[in-house]
Amino acid sequence: MLLEGKTGLIMGVANKRSIAWGVTQSVRDAGARLILTYQNERLGENVRKLESELNNPLLYPCDVSSDDEIDQLMDAIAKDAGGLDFIVHALAFAPREALSGGYVDTTREAFRIALDVSAYSLVAVAKRAAPLMKDRDGSIVTLTYLGSERVVPGYNVMGVAKAALEASVRYLANDLGPDGIRVNAISAGPIKTLASSAVSGISGMVKMHVERAPLRRPTEIGEVGDTALFLASSLSRGITGEVVYVDGGYNVLGA
Ligand code: NAD
Repeated sequence: MLLEGKTGLIMGVANKRSIAWGVTQSVRDAGARLILTYQNERLGENVRKLESELNNPLLYPCDVSSDDEIDQLMDAIAKDAGGLDFIVHALAFAPREALSGGYVDTTREAFRIALDVSAYSLVAVAKRAAPLMKDRDGSIVTLTYLGSERVVPGYNVMGVAKAALEASVRYLANDLGPDGIRVNAISAGPIKTLASSAVSGISGMVKMHVERAPLRRPTEIGEVGDTALFLASSLSRGITGEVVYVDGGYNVLGA
């Protein structure tokens, strides 16, 4: 029970296919006490349906594009849970029209929204959560994708947002390390989810991954969840500011 006695916040469960749900199952099985957020009431209904699979989780709404909602969330956690040991930030958004065609056609507004929700939100959450995590060997984990460093057709502005997210991981790791808080990212292979279905060509990406990744099989939410468990636990106590690939080895290929 690697996370016995630990309290974790998981942001980004939309349904059973969510990477955040894979993480939730892994950290639940490791004994963590869980706090889940949902973006809005519609998705909150889905999360409440999954609640019975968990041991009395705390559930709160939080749209990360609102500083007020993040403030309210952290106030509620301080009051109801007292502190936090780990956070898994597994959320992203870009307007659908920005996820097909050429990156060169990205509008100023689509760029702003994608970077705000998918990258800045990690900074906003980390700043407000840090006082709750101080001196508890805290761990913050976010989710990224290879499109941050290579051109993946259709991923477009989300690749630019993920590059900003990965750079934020390094700067946050340096800022929060003195308080004993680690910050890392998992770069997952392509998985069909609600969010990824907005990326044109996601089926082709999964197929190519199965054909070419060294492990020759699709990435699954359970294996991403188990790596998040490792990064949340003291087993990874010497690791911060890193991007860990959970992609069957796809990223090592040169051609
Ligand atoms: P998902 O649709 O299950 O989860 C995305 C979540 O983001 C949803 O719960 C949604 O409610 C939330 N969200 C979007 N805008 C929000 C906002 N303003 N406030 C609060 N929450 C908001 O999809 P997923 O694929 O599990 O995505 C989780 C993370 O994993 C994302 O960061 C995604 O970029 C990343 N990722 C996904 C893949 C993939 O192929 N699916 C690969 C690598 C990384």
